[in-house]
Amino acid sequence: MALKGSDIVKKLPDGGKKNCKECGFPTCFAFAMKLASGAVTLDKCPHIPDDLKAELGEAMAPPQKLVTIGTGEKAVNIGNEEVIYRHDKTFFHPCALTLLISDNDSDDIVDQKIKKIKELEFERVGLLLKADLLATCFESGDKDKFVALVKKISESSDLGMVIISEDTDALFAARDVCADKKPLLYPITKENLDKAIPEIKKSPTPVCIRASSVEELIPITEKLKGEGIDELVLDPGSRKVLDVIRDQTLIRRAALKQTFRPLGYPTIMFPCWMTKDRMEEALIASVGVIKYPGIIVLSDMSSDTLQPLLVQRLNIYTDPRMPMTVEEKIYPIGEPTEDSPVLLTTNWALTYFIVSSEIEGTKVPVHMLVKEAEGLGVLTAWAAGKFNGDNIGPFVNNSGIADKVKSKKLVLPGKVARIKGEVEDALPDWEIIVGPREASGIGGWLPDYAKSLKS
Ligand code: SF4
Repeated sequence: MALKGSDIVKKLPDGGKKNCKECGFPTCFAFAMKLASGAVTLDKCPHIPDDLKAELGEAMAPPQKLVTIGTGEKAVNIGNEEVIYRHDKTFFHPCALTLLISDNDSDDIVDQKIKKIKELEFERVGLLLKADLLATCFESGDKDKFVALVKKISESSDLGMVIISEDTDALFAARDVCADKKPLLYPITKENLDKAIPEIKKSPTPVCIRASSVEELIPITEKLKGEGIDELVLDPGSRKVLDVIRDQTLIRRAALKQTFRPLGYPTIMFPCWMTKDRMEEALIASVGVIKYPGIIVLSDMSSDTLQPLLVQRLNIYTDPRMPMTVEEKIYPIGEPTEDSPVLLTTNWALTYFIVSSEIEGTKVPVHMLVKEAEGLGVLTAWAAGKFNGDNIGPFVNNSGIADKVKSKKLVLPGKVARIKGEVEDALPDWEIIVGPREASGIGGWLPDYAKSLKS
């Protein structure tokens, strides 16, 4: 949000002193503050003339435009970021990892790539991680072949698409066979701009501008915006790692720090064209995951290159203010019976997945009780008063676990052995067992403990 409430109020009727309350707020100032936070929209005030609405709307627009590629559930949103550094707040829209298919690729390779992007998926902390977009590149010189390939990809995948062609006729002919999927068109340049504008207007879809420098992007974005074309992605043309970092940072800082509208758009990066070495390409892409493109195009994908990028992206685009959590409930691991152990832990996602995978490794079926603790690990939750006798007692009693087991024995994490007494007081019907101090100790301890329950 570029304008503060104190700036907005001066622009409201009578310099913000009308205070007629028709917007539902007691004063214009209260309305302006809500407007600045995005909690209300301008149309709630009936006294703002249209020209001022347009001016305020423009001034209050996010510093970086949100661009959507594709439609439906698989549509990808990029841009609309608010900070340079993740630790300042959070990054919102993860960069779209994109697989490139050339119309020079054989039919077999095309089919393999389409299959790959569908099937390569990885589960981590309860989330399914996958690549996002398919790019199709015109290299054969045969326009009909290119258009046919774009049509085939469009029909065989529901992912969003990037259409790449230096031949403007081929670019828009390919767009026409999948315009309803809102593909991103690349490249719009200063050379093809005049020819491209009427074509873009015929069937609006996001377009990506390519220039030979950051400066050269500016007149092109201004011209397109003047024509009402505002779903833009930027490529400053850099193809060396240091140049990419420099240009991506420059664009991001200009957009977010200076609210420089001509560069207020997400960007793209092409590791696929920066090296022929697949591992080096993945390393270059990993630089991009950090700084700052909205789209990263790769020549190929396999689990050894894609998985690390997806995990890195997950780490970068996870909100640092919000610990990842799992739901508070009883998690059956394996097929637990009434003789199975009951283990207790907190709902920090990392704790849950580490403990559950250690249990799974033993092949011992377990009732795993996960208590809500605001996403804190066991020791931190105890220190914060979220994991003690007072709150573990009611949780266990209300969880329904007593109906699932014969002998009431509850295993506490060894790190909080000190609360054994208070948990015993809170759960007088239960025997409290102190388990291993670290999750890594579960493998050597759990099988014998499970046997002892049956003997
Ligand atoms: Fe002020 Fe408009 Fe609200 Fe009236 S309706 S109090 S003029 S912001």
